[in-house]
Amino acid sequence: MDLIQSPWFSYKKDHLYCGEVPIRDIIKSTGTPVYIYNKQFFQNSFNEFKEAFKGLDNSIFFSVKSNFNISVIKTFLDLGCGADVNSQGEMYRALQAGAKPDKLILSGVGKTKDEIKLGLEHDILLFKAESEEEILLINEIAGTMNKIARVGIRVNPNVDAKTHPYISTGLMENKFGLNTDEAVEIFNMGGKLKNIEFTAIDMHIGSQIISIDPFSEAIDRLSEVYFRLKGNGINLKHFDIGGGIGVPYKGEKIFSLKEFASALIPKLKKLDCKILFEPGRFLTANGGVLVSQVLFTKMNYDKNFVITDAAMNDLLRPSIYNAYHHIQPVDLYSGRDDIYADIVGPVCESGDFFAKDRVISKMNREEYLAVLSCGSYGMVMSSNYNGRRRPPEVLVDYNNFNIIRSRETYEHLIWDEKSNN
Ligand SMILES: *Cc1c(COP(=O)(O)O)cnc(C)c1O
Repeated sequence: MDLIQSPWFSYKKDHLYCGEVPIRDIIKSTGTPVYIYNKQFFQNSFNEFKEAFKGLDNSIFFSVKSNFNISVIKTFLDLGCGADVNSQGEMYRALQAGAKPDKLILSGVGKTKDEIKLGLEHDILLFKAESEEEILLINEIAGTMNKIARVGIRVNPNVDAKTHPYISTGLMENKFGLNTDEAVEIFNMGGKLKNIEFTAIDMHIGSQIISIDPFSEAIDRLSEVYFRLKGNGINLKHFDIGGGIGVPYKGEKIFSLKEFASALIPKLKKLDCKILFEPGRFLTANGGVLVSQVLFTKMNYDKNFVITDAAMNDLLRPSIYNAYHHIQPVDLYSGRDDIYADIVGPVCESGDFFAKDRVISKMNREEYLAVLSCGSYGMVMSSNYNGRRRPPEVLVDYNNFNIIRSRETYEHLIWDEKSNN
């Protein structure tokens, strides 16, 4: 089987390390399943991003929905990054992590009154609105609070991001954003909305996009709108291109950030305003693994199954997107044959799998497996399905590790329930 290694997760003497810490030391203290992140990966990927765009007037906002642990958010804030949040809960997390409101963006196609109020109370940098009704509501609430809301309009540029349909967001048929003409119409009525200042135009065309073309095309369409508005005397401060940069899940080659930057910077420099970025997956995905223990192995008819103590409630991406995550043993043994196996969890669903017909070295009971690329959209999508406790999270910092979230207890599972007898 192929082993994927990186400066952040690599084998030393046939044992997988996160940075300088052997995985065995971590699981000795946390048990399994457990999410393990490498802080240096997060720092490195942010610095790579910053470096690639350093010739451009820009700000980077970490998309909190990809990994919302407050220690992870803080890691990015400490580097000068802002935060892009999608809900009141994410805003709460970002604020708890120490985010300054002038570095907070609130996104989301369906904001509630409470979410809008909270954003206004904190005077956040930007509300990204996605419908006329929402803009009218923000104006009304800001009026009652005697505030001016800074608002951007998310434009749906109708380009095909060529990614999984569930994570494609910039097509006409998707629920996100407004079409260009409608957006221009609303920007033009800005003068009538006394409690709104339009400061931005924005897009986010999807996630795990593995070609630069959809970004270029969408930026061209948005630029047209930007210049139409300029012609109407509307000078926006911010042009927000969202997130969506694809990352390797199989060790494959995807465009580098340098290539991405050199393709886009000439277009973005023509706009005399600040460019905002909202990367999520790029900053976190390959900085984390989910480690689980093999409970049992078996053969059913002619099919091998490896049953692990992690399940779809811990990592949902394979079940809902059929997403590929590379899986490899934590310990390597010489002379082990490779087999084809389904790697599955204990949950009572046939959709509870991490891999199907995957080449993996033969595993025995009580050995450990690492599911790679779990730093994004892993823990954040976890649930308590089947009465399972959510796993802990660990942040490795060079040769130290910190448990940044402990395993849920059984009391956690029922703390807010009442039995009526
Ligand atoms: C999800 C999301 C992002 C981050 O997307 P990635 O693919 O993780 O980079 C950025 N902006 C918005 C509005 C989003 O919904």
